[in-house]
Amino acid sequence: MAGVYVHVPFCLRKCIYCDFFSVPEIGQTTAYVEALRKEMELRRDFLGEEPQTFYIGGGTPSLLPLTLLEGIVEAADRYFDLSHCTEFTLEANPDDLSPEYVRSLRSLPFNRISLGVQSFDDEVLRFLGRRHTARQALRAIDLCRLVGYENLSIDLIYGLPVAEKENSLEAALRLDLPHISAYHLTYEEGTPLYELLQKGLSPIDEEISASQFLYFHQRLSTAGYVHYELSNFAKEGCFSRHNTAYWKGEPYIGLGPSAHSFRGIRREANVRSLPLYLSSLSEGKLPCTVEKLSLTEQFNEYLITRLRTKWGIRMEEVSRLFGERFAESLCQNVKPFIDRGLLVGTEDTFHLTVDGMLLCDAILRSLILLDPIRRG
Ligand code: SF4
Repeated sequence: MAGVYVHVPFCLRKCIYCDFFSVPEIGQTTAYVEALRKEMELRRDFLGEEPQTFYIGGGTPSLLPLTLLEGIVEAADRYFDLSHCTEFTLEANPDDLSPEYVRSLRSLPFNRISLGVQSFDDEVLRFLGRRHTARQALRAIDLCRLVGYENLSIDLIYGLPVAEKENSLEAALRLDLPHISAYHLTYEEGTPLYELLQKGLSPIDEEISASQFLYFHQRLSTAGYVHYELSNFAKEGCFSRHNTAYWKGEPYIGLGPSAHSFRGIRREANVRSLPLYLSSLSEGKLPCTVEKLSLTEQFNEYLITRLRTKWGIRMEEVSRLFGERFAESLCQNVKPFIDRGLLVGTEDTFHLTVDGMLLCDAILRSLILLDPIRRG
């Protein structure tokens, strides 16, 4: 189940926590779409199969005028054949969605909108450097529904170093959305938020952070959402098909500056610079580096992606893909975590418990292999 991802590298201004690649040069959007077309043409054979999901993310895709979005969809259809796609997602910022824009979007094949809401508290939104207000977020959701978009997702951020006066999760639950992504705030080096940390901002206490994660888990589970990936909750049948395919190791192609692609043993990373992306493609050269994964690296990748999900790890799959030696070593390494109640499962599968989710990174550090082992 292959997927196509397009990265739109434009944001009017940077949110203080963000380390995604984006620049404010919106005068370059037409040149970017031209380069994207060229990249699609050069990489048309990468997937080797028709994609089933198509996702435009960023950056801020909703900064692009409809004509440019249409150009991207048309080019992707020409080079990758989108006729088998069942899920077309567009990421959008709430304040970009005017009634005209949302109505016109209906002429394009998007059937899922992912809104960067982050919080329903205006003070928190200001602290995070977001452009929109809580009222604009609510209006954007209303507008989407009004024109017929039911398959909506919002992003929320928790673990904030400032108090939320509005309970954003409760506000989100009142909207009865099919999908909610909830991310813990992280302090990425190079961001203004990281600088604030260096200057003495106190991050949230670890215990409070854990209790907020558990609150999200319990509250959303009680409200009928499935916690199907560490940061993702959805009503049954409303999981993101595109992202689920990432976590299940399906091939995907990422187009645009800083986008990553993956297929089997091959991983590619596009350059994280708009000028270099544009100049490389204008010379007919691909702006990416290629990495071939060893068997041990593939195994580690398998653990890192699968363990995040409710489906977890299947031992039969590990034996089939990597051989008995990998399966035996994994069996031994997971035992202490099963004994401590951090992993749970049957003979053939295991996944994280909610306590295990809190310690996912530490568990992974113990399970991934630093030294290569041979297929056995
Ligand atoms: S809008 Fe999204 S991509 Fe742009 S700076 Fe903010 S968080 Fe980053």
